[in-house]
Order: sequence, then structure tokens, then C-alpha cells
Amino acid sequence: KRPNAQRPRVVGVKTEVPLYNGERVRYVNLDSAASTSPLIKVRQAVDDFLPWYSSVHRGSGYKSRLSTHLYEKARDAVMRFVGATPATHVVIFVRNTTEAINLLAHRIQLEPDELVLSTRMEHHSNLLPWFRRAHEIIDVTAEGRLDMEALEQRLQHHNGKVRLVTITAASNVSGLITDIRRAARLAHAHGALIAVDAAQLAPHRTLDMGTPGTADAIDIVAFSGHKLYAPYGTGALVVPATLFVDGEPMLVGGGTACLVTNSGIKWATGPDLEEAGSPNVIGVVAMAAALEELMRYGMDRVAEHERELTEYAIRRLQAIPGLKLYGPSWEHFLSGAEDRLGVICFNMEGRHYGEVAAILANEWGVGVRSGCFCAHLYVAHLLGISEEDAAEARDRLIAGLPVDLPGMVRASFSLSNTKDDVDRLASGLLAISRGEIRAEYTRTEEGDFE
Ligand code: PMP
Repeated sequence: KRPNAQRPRVVGVKTEVPLYNGERVRYVNLDSAASTSPLIKVRQAVDDFLPWYSSVHRGSGYKSRLSTHLYEKARDAVMRFVGATPATHVVIFVRNTTEAINLLAHRIQLEPDELVLSTRMEHHSNLLPWFRRAHEIIDVTAEGRLDMEALEQRLQHHNGKVRLVTITAASNVSGLITDIRRAARLAHAHGALIAVDAAQLAPHRTLDMGTPGTADAIDIVAFSGHKLYAPYGTGALVVPATLFVDGEPMLVGGGTACLVTNSGIKWATGPDLEEAGSPNVIGVVAMAAALEELMRYGMDRVAEHERELTEYAIRRLQAIPGLKLYGPSWEHFLSGAEDRLGVICFNMEGRHYGEVAAILANEWGVGVRSGCFCAHLYVAHLLGISEEDAAEARDRLIAGLPVDLPGMVRASFSLSNTKDDVDRLASGLLAISRGEIRAEYTRTEEGDFE
């Protein structure tokens, strides 16, 4: 370990925001599970590149060649970040994890009797694309962990017909980290591939796809740049080089064909085939800068910093009367387990989650998220809502009737947070729990608190 490496710094940590009474305070961003602010290194890389960017791949001018070089070099950064190599894998640049998984769901070839296994823990991005294909959902345990026995049982039941197991590496609701190595061994033992939604894990832990062809290697990985200290609009899908050889890409157009005649097309190969149209070169260069900076610092250090903050936060939040934390008990984590990210979901007794989030924003300058976090199946499980009740709410919504959906508040930590940030959150929640609310809140027709 290099002892004195400087922690990567993000843009805008001192930004002040107005409170309900016009006073301005430093903004505390506890919503990094949604998006992170860019690193200063990312801003520099974009600034340096702006005078130079140009159309990649087909231009012969200096700027085009430079842009092509940096665009292709970014694939190498992604490869190193996930522990893959071009000998076996291909990096496809996409807009985000959602697009990556839609692409995978579109491109994966299933025989008529084959299916995909996904899980109840998933963000909708790794769930809804599979609703369009033959699929089954693996349940979670009462605590909210992926049920490995159920996974094994379903793999056995389908007897070699599961083509792909696709799971999240860490939940955006409970922060629980999935044992993706164990899931990989199970998938491979039954002839299935394993895909990992690394949108949440990648910003916080080392992501290593392992040695291709070994039992616990990860075959496919997807993540988003905007959760990794780069701007919106860029993500990556890393797949085995052999996976998308047959069939047509999801989007067709410029760059996807080698030769087009009236009577047929010779398609391009590799990532070109999947990246139709002019790509987001600036976004890709920005994301690569973020990955390089994180690799320089070391993800183990990122994890260490966030662990310290999360422990501190949990100890403070556990002492607040009326605050209910979701997911498994945090005691396991506090006693040293490495099975959880700094994502904390809670509700305050007697207060709507939307109101708690609004008070934290308006009176304390703290940005959190509230609702169901695009993980309805999982949130319903953690809140103890039955499928029947959820289906009734859905039918009311379909019929245009009002429904007050249940939900939670989520605070999430990143490498730019400090103990001061945790203190602000804890002070805000303590005040709410004591009924010390300073502004008046009304509910809009859409159900938001203002
Ligand atoms: N998967 C997980 C686990 C996520 O947390 C998110 C973002 N909340 C996504 C997928 C989707 O990411 P994006 O919106 O960048 O496509």
C-alpha cells in the first residue's frame, strides 16, 4: 500500500444551497447511490479534451486520430478496472447500466426451452429487460439476502436450460453485497453464464471478473459512469468476445456494417457492431479519467473510508428514537463483516418518507432519496408488503385511482463524504424524531412534500 496517496477529490464539495428560511449552508450529498459529482481529475480531463475532440474511427485528421486513440484507450481503462483483458473480452460503451442490460437482454440468444434467472434484489434495470424474455425471479431470504439455496435449486430444476444468471453485485436499497463468486460457481456448474449488475458495487469495491473459464469467474459486467464520479451518458458492458458474434445488434446504423449492398450486409465485429452512431467520446474520456483516478488511489482505500463513515453513521442513527433501519441487522457489519455498502434505508415512525426527505433538504441542506428506488419487488419485501397488496395498488394505479405508495428514505455514502456530513444527517433526524420541525410542509397533487 502507498501510505500517502491523496484521496480523489470531487468537484463542488463546498457548494452552498439555500434552506427554507433563505440561510445558505454547505450542501451535504447523501445520494451518491443515485449519482456522484465528478472528480476534479475528470473535470481536468474534459477541459483538456474539449479543444481536441472530433469524430472517432473514420476521420483521418489529427484530431480524429487523437480522439480515436483516447476512445480506444478508454476501453483499456475499463478492462483494467474490472480485471478483464482484450484477449477474452469486449468493452461496449453504452449510456448507462440500463442500456447495457437492455442490450444484453436483446442480444443474448435463447433456445426456445432456455431461460434467464434474475433475482428479487434487482434494480428495475436488471429486472424489466428480463420480463421481455423467458425468465424466473430468484427470491431473497427474510433478511433480504440473495437466497443461494433457491438459486441452486432452480438451476438444478431447469437442468442445463438456464442460459444466464443475472444478479446485482450490491443492492441499491439495502447495500448488501452479493456473493457473486458463489453465484458464479453455481451458474457455471449448471452450464449457465453469469452477468453482474455492478452499478452499485463498482464505485465502492474492487471489481474483478476473475480468470475467464474458471468456475468463479464473472462472464459479463455492466456499470454506469455517473455513479463512478464521471458525468451522465456513459457506461460500459463487458462481455466475452464470443458472445455477440451471431445475430444483429440492438441499434443499426453508422459504424455497424463493413459493407452494405442492396442484397445484404456484412456486419462489423467487436464493439463497433454494438455502438451504432457517433459515440459519446467526451463522456468516455471522462469516465476513463475517473476509473484511472480510482485505480491510482485504490478501491481498498475507498472501501476503508466508506466503511468508517458507515459505521459512524449506523452508531449515530441507531440511537435516534423512532428511526427504523431496513435490511438485516447492522450488527453483523459493525462486528467487521464486509457484506454491505454505505447505503442506509430507514423510516421515521409517524412520518411519511417523502416528508422526512423534504425536511432534511429544506432545513438541513442534506440531499437524500426517498421512495422505492426502482426496486419495487425488493422494497415491498423489506417493508413486508404482500404480492396481493402490491398487485391491488398496481391495479388502482392502472384504473387511474390514487395510491399512496409506501417507501423509505435512503442515505448513501461515497468517498467525498465526511463525518461532518453524517453529523448533519443525524442532527436532522434527531430533530425530526423530537418533532422539532421549523417549516410548514404541504403535499402536492403528485404526492411530493413542499
Ligand atoms: N442497477 C443498480 C443496482 C442501480 O443502483 C442503478 C441506478 N440506481 C441501476 C442499475 C441503473 O443505473 P442507470 O440509471 O445508470 O442506468
